[in-house]
Amino acid sequence: MRLVDAHKRPLHDLRISITDRCNFRCTYCMPREHFGSDHAFLNREALLSYEEITLVVRSLLCVGLRKVRLTGGEPLLRKDVTKLIRMLRSEGPDLDIAMTTNGVLLKRNAEALFEAGLNRVTVSLDAIDEDVFQSMADTPRHTPTHVLEGIDSAMSAGLGVKVNAVIRKSINEDQILKLSKACMDRVVPLRFIEYMDVGNTNAWNYDEVVTGKRIRAILENRIGTLTAEPPKHRGEVARRYRTDEGQIFGFVESVSNPFCGDCTRARLSANGSLYTCLFSSTGHDLRSILRMGGEEEDIGEAVRSIWQHRGDRYSVERSTDNTSRKKVEMSFIGG
Ligand code: SAM
Ligand code: SF4
Ligand code: SF4
Repeated sequence: MRLVDAHKRPLHDLRISITDRCNFRCTYCMPREHFGSDHAFLNREALLSYEEITLVVRSLLCVGLRKVRLTGGEPLLRKDVTKLIRMLRSEGPDLDIAMTTNGVLLKRNAEALFEAGLNRVTVSLDAIDEDVFQSMADTPRHTPTHVLEGIDSAMSAGLGVKVNAVIRKSINEDQILKLSKACMDRVVPLRFIEYMDVGNTNAWNYDEVVTGKRIRAILENRIGTLTAEPPKHRGEVARRYRTDEGQIFGFVESVSNPFCGDCTRARLSANGSLYTCLFSSTGHDLRSILRMGGEEEDIGEAVRSIWQHRGDRYSVERSTDNTSRKKVEMSFIGG
């Protein structure tokens, strides 16, 4: 039976956070004052094992799951991630398996990821200038060159590649054209993501959001006409535009132009809770079911019941001041 939620949205995508740890401390995601050396990250036993993750995915294939995205935290920090990809690939030969990564560990992993069965990577890159990059990611060790080398290695290995950039007013607006050039040189789609009020630690402020509309105006002024592309499928988060030369730019306008009506995504946190919205306060504990000996049918039944009751439309209902609402952190449930 086709599974749909209270707004008739199917469950097509699962984003899986495989670790809550990260080698960056992006100021908009894991600000160091909240994720410092004394932060209690999940211990090993708390994390879902690869077998448990695979069982969850297997349970969802029969309710219509088409795509999984491995994320985090930084997914390439988790040991033997290629083993998980191989396990998922053998569950679903046609499953679309993607990963979102900050890219600094991609160069050394790209070939193995492709060989294990990964289809695509989305690489996050917010700046081309080293000082802006290091200040946004709050990391003195890594550079944009490492990320660009990761992108090039992923392309050479045969992976599909897209780049994601979060633009914040007065912080990296001057990187918009530099990022565009780096992506145009490589013929890689670049997606601009509006700075979102996820979690409670990034002190989000509406005034720092640079809207997709504003970025399109900058691009049209300097690069040329952008023509809107039709969506490829339901639930596509980015609105896509094409230049006359064929470069694709995407805009994830979660704040200025929300897309909840087509949201077909669930998220599985690193410790095994299912979240039906990026802005949820609480999740649904699947790990307990798994660890009490639950099988495919039990997980399938639990998810069916959770999804049928889903009514989330946070971005449509968002107000400009929502700092009082308790929300889960993005590094925990996966971006
Ligand atoms: N560490 C990996 C990475 O950075 O690609 C994967 C996890 S990260 C949480 C996934 C995506 O979420 C990244 O593209 C990041 O830029 C985005 N992100 C994190 N916090 C955000 C925020 N407050 N607003 C918009 N995007 C955000
Ligand atoms: Fe880490 Fe990604 Fe969050 Fe940056 S956006 S802190 S790289 S999880
Ligand atoms: Fe989906 Fe929630 Fe984002 Fe709306 S706010 S698009 S329901 S994750």
